[in-house]
Amino acid sequence: MIEVGPDTACMLYLAASLLAVISIWLYQHKKSKKKEILTFQTKHFICDFCTASYLESATKAYTRCPQCGSLNTTKR
Ligand SMILES: [Zn+2]
Repeated sequence: MIEVGPDTACMLYLAASLLAVISIWLYQHKKSKKKEILTFQTKHFICDFCTASYLESATKAYTRCPQCGSLNTTKR
């Protein structure tokens, strides 16, 4: 058995505690960086005919208003 004095035991205890806290912090930090940034594929449009607002995919050339059914252009 290795004999350890009280000073050495206290230092080992504090070092182990500090190492545990730092490793938990690093794990949480690394985990938080992995979160994906959500990109919105939809865009907010306002109907030219009835002024209703709606969300629609921005990749289409024309969008159909869900309120009145009219076609609105995505290009302004
Ligand atoms: Zn409309």
